[in-house]
Amino acid sequence: MNPDLQRLTELEKIDREASRLTEEVAGLPKRVATIEAKLAEHKAAVEQAKARIKGNETTRRQMEADIKGFQEKIAKYRSQSSSVKTNDEYRALMHEVEFAEKQISGCEDKILELMIGLENEEKSLKVAEAELKTEAADVEKEKAEAHIRTAEDEKLLAGLTGKRDELRSGVDYSALAHYDRVMRQRKSAIAEARDQKCMACFVMVRPQTWQEIRTNEQIITCNSCGRILYFDPASEVAQAEPAKKKKARAAEVEAEPEQAEHETTPTQ
Ligand SMILES: [Zn+2]
Repeated sequence: MNPDLQRLTELEKIDREASRLTEEVAGLPKRVATIEAKLAEHKAAVEQAKARIKGNETTRRQMEADIKGFQEKIAKYRSQSSSVKTNDEYRALMHEVEFAEKQISGCEDKILELMIGLENEEKSLKVAEAELKTEAADVEKEKAEAHIRTAEDEKLLAGLTGKRDELRSGVDYSALAHYDRVMRQRKSAIAEARDQKCMACFVMVRPQTWQEIRTNEQIITCNSCGRILYFDPASEVAQAEPAKKKKARAAEVEAEPEQAEHETTPTQ
């Protein structure tokens, strides 16, 4: 193989791996941000549950204070009732007592509702807190993994840079410039040529060019996509074999009726 073609083929593998690693490194902070956002959501759920419990308790204390207030009023009305002079005054006081008792009853109903509500709020707080605990542990684990992965990727990238520089320094300037241009535009600069076609853009190459590509002795570019073409004899062999088998099988099928008459097992 032409040494430049050999080096560019290797270089392309390294460049592709380097861009995969670069993308992965760039994507990791985003992944961490996503899981942290999820964690923040769970934290907010816990805070909301706590706020609801606090609100419940505040309302309950208010209700209890209201009951006390109404009870004091009732006591006052009752003590006043012993010193009223007219039936109307007495009825008016008793009306006030009745009203205060209704208010107390209403507050008691509300307190009962709040107590039932509190039980549910406390249950959902426990669930939210348990979820948050698990989630926080998962986030720490994922963050640690992301950090390790980033460090590993960066180490690999550094290793690739060395190999990359070495390969680039050995390639003819114009071939390298062509490679860089196509790589920038198409994210791949090398393509296999098979069955007289560029396997990247599937456009046919001229028979003369095809013969030249098959030798792998020159830098030949695809007229359509600009990629540098190489020939792999192994894929031609791999393709030829199933075709041969097919032919053999066809011959076998033709021979079968005769063999069936004699009830013999075909041997291969
Ligand atoms: Zn092409």
